[in-house]
Amino acid sequence: MTDFPIDGHTQLVGLIGWPVAHSLSPAMHNAAFEALGLNWRYVPLPVPPGQAETAVRGLAALGFRGANVTVPHKQAVMPALDTIDVHARALGAVNTLVVGRGADGTPTIGGYNTDASGFVGALREGGFEPQRGGSAVVVGAGGAARAVVSGLLRSGSGEITILNRTPERAEALVSERRGEEETRGQGDKGTRRQGDVPERAGRLRALPLTAETLVESTRAAGLLVNATTVGMWPHVGGSVWPDAVPVPAHLTVFDLVYNPLETRLLRQARNSGAHTIDGLGMLVRQGALAFDMWTNQGLEVDEIATLMRAACERVLGT
Ligand code: NAP
Repeated sequence: MTDFPIDGHTQLVGLIGWPVAHSLSPAMHNAAFEALGLNWRYVPLPVPPGQAETAVRGLAALGFRGANVTVPHKQAVMPALDTIDVHARALGAVNTLVVGRGADGTPTIGGYNTDASGFVGALREGGFEPQRGGSAVVVGAGGAARAVVSGLLRSGSGEITILNRTPERAEALVSERRGEEETRGQGDKGTRRQGDVPERAGRLRALPLTAETLVESTRAAGLLVNATTVGMWPHVGGSVWPDAVPVPAHLTVFDLVYNPLETRLLRQARNSGAHTIDGLGMLVRQGALAFDMWTNQGLEVDEIATLMRAACERVLGT
């Protein structure tokens, strides 16, 4: 176990969500703290629906350095924050809180979203460059799909087709991004990260998810992303891709599901010779970006992500 017992110097961060018992985040963050010799701990913070704002204020009062936020609280925490980063605001969801101190010692809480950057980092690590990869097909229109679309827009992807079982949610995602683009102030320019390109939501279209729309829209695409829960444990036999059609070999297929690591979709893709990327890279990168914001150790995100991936693989038994 760790060289650092919990004592008066231990710094705390945690995960606000409901439920949180299944999360890999405590294992991956605590493994990184331990490997880097930091007297920090990451604890699960189960917060019932309706209690998110109270929990955020409690974080500051208890001296926490920050927290991650997961379902169902990614929107609900926002009114309790002092500042919200432009990308989190555009996404309409916060997954990382950083507790700082003003000049007079008053705590201030900033909200960020590291999911989109985590996704793009994992995509590039997997050998796919969004700016050169042509058009993309995203299946799903929930929270994860929003982060994927935001990351793709920001990194200069070609046309993005969003397919969803409930088509209205895909259409809502497209119109929100267009509305956000129209209202985005000039002042946001200064907060873009290096390499970001102006988001052009005109490149988005929404379609209902059927076998036909999926097969048709991937014909000319370079990337297929599964951002649905299909294929996730315990329903591991599920896949968004139809059995009767081979996955096009030219595609890169990224499945956000990380339990199991090799989903049925990724097996279908691998069997057709398509390139595959599993969901763990995004999970550890969004975590590593948060870790870096809290601890400011000046480490490469890749280095933190590698420590975290090893911890997750131990837990998942791969
Ligand atoms: P969510 O907000 O609940 O959205 C779920 C999505 O899945 C919706 O688009 C939903 O469609 C679709 N869906 C559910 N059952 C379906 C079915 N039987 N057929 C077709 N579509 C179906 O969930 P989320 O937070 O976006 O998470 C989605 C997945 O991404 C989860 O597996 C999660 O673990 C994973 N994830 C991974 C990472 C990572 O770091 N790797 C990060 C975030 C999430 P409807 O709109 O029609 O209901």
